Amino acid sequence: MNTPNNAHYAAPLWEKVLLLLAEQSMVDEVAIDSWFKDVEAVSFEGNTFTIVTPSSLSKDIIRERFSSCICDALKKLCMGDFTLQVIDQSQLELMGLPEKEKSVLEEYTFDNFVVGRSNEIVQAHARRIAESSKVEFNPFFIYGNSGLGKTHLICAIANEKKRLYPHLEIKYSTSEGWLNEFVESLSTEASKIEFKRKYRNLDMFILDDVQLLGKASVTLDELFNTFNELFNSKKQIIFTSDVKPASLIHLQNFTERMTSRFGMGLTLQMQSPDIETRMAIIQKKASLRGQVLPMSIVELIAEKFTDNIRDIEGTISKVLAYRDLDPSNIKEEEEEKEIKEKKVEEREWIMKCAKDILNSTEFVMTPERIIQEVAKYFCVTEEKIRNKGRTKELVQARNVAVYLMQDMKQMSQTEIGKELGNRDHSTISNSLSNVADTLKAESQQGENHLQRSIEDIKHRLNNQLGQ
Ligand code: ADP
Ligand code: MG
Repeated sequence: MNTPNNAHYAAPLWEKVLLLLAEQSMVDEVAIDSWFKDVEAVSFEGNTFTIVTPSSLSKDIIRERFSSCICDALKKLCMGDFTLQVIDQSQLELMGLPEKEKSVLEEYTFDNFVVGRSNEIVQAHARRIAESSKVEFNPFFIYGNSGLGKTHLICAIANEKKRLYPHLEIKYSTSEGWLNEFVESLSTEASKIEFKRKYRNLDMFILDDVQLLGKASVTLDELFNTFNELFNSKKQIIFTSDVKPASLIHLQNFTERMTSRFGMGLTLQMQSPDIETRMAIIQKKASLRGQVLPMSIVELIAEKFTDNIRDIEGTISKVLAYRDLDPSNIKEEEEEKEIKEKKVEEREWIMKCAKDILNSTEFVMTPERIIQEVAKYFCVTEEKIRNKGRTKELVQARNVAVYLMQDMKQMSQTEIGKELGNRDHSTISNSLSNVADTLKAESQQGENHLQRSIEDIKHRLNNQLGQ
């Protein structure tokens, strides 16, 4: 028996299956009309026949009531034993089916994820969660600044889990996606029930950027109920956020009850990648586009972009586009050139790219940006933060700027001092102890003013980057 692996074959075969089911009265025609009308066959690979249903309800019905007669019909038509895979539209995007347009989420795999010192612990645990048949770390909470690979890694978990355990119900949601679905579900009683049923019956629920859900307490209540139900039935929950669970409490409607539960599993931080990891990522991204970048360009990009891998990707695209437009590059393919001449061209090209990259400081987290945002927040001027001035507001703003430069950019005390009107490192060290002492004192008194200011400014900075 031979089954070509494509949808062109799957679709007509599905027609035949439906005809056979009706002809042989395996399923009555009313049922075929109501349950199979919008079902599509999307692939036939090996001995797995995959159909997609419009809703998760029709998926459950077909799985429960009709899968054995569909398999019987397939057996009659193709003379073999088949596994029927029934999925719904929302799962389709995570399945990697060749006939449908590949979503970017499918490209986020472990294979494409470069492991280095900054992310190896998070990656190892992510991998373990994807591979294990047990639920060991629940919830798994990944936090870190924007552009460090959180979304990539959790999608890799979903994709790998799906591959290893195709029968599991896995759902990846962005916070916006989940919120929209929730709001829509409020329109009728039936859709409310369907929404609850869908999320509470999952085997794995992945929610990206949970910090964005703090705006409405009713949304958070629904999230918390779902969380508790899944948690109590030992189903895997994975969240990401730009701050650790305990810090969510400083944002809008999150409550202590929620944040302490979110942090009771395994919480890990994604760190900024070191230079070797950044270079490896750059090479990987170029090779995924079928290109090899000269080492000098790889180094240049890696040195310039230290914090956000999304920026690195943008730059690679720019460089590659630049190269495609470069006429010397096109000529190169037309005729064999002297190696020497080629080298000169390459050097010129690198110089052009270098200029281009060094000129584009948009989207890069710089000390200037941090100072700018802090100044805006405390309603003082940037100049005053950098220079003298010891009013209470200025000292506080300056201390927060120092703290953020260390926290977000891992700058040394000497480097920070240079940014702030050449202050020496002991002054910077005083600022840092001052922030630490205030945070400690506030938390002992059950307050969080400074913490909240810091988180707020961080959010604003991260949001600028994430756009
Ligand atoms: P976050 O969710 O933390 O903001 P993303 O997961 O969206 O970050 O990552 C931004 C981009 O950087 C993505 O295109 C992702 O593929 C890439 N990226 C981040 N970390 C890595 C890594 N370690 N290896 C390969 N690509 C990475
Ligand atoms: Mg993300």
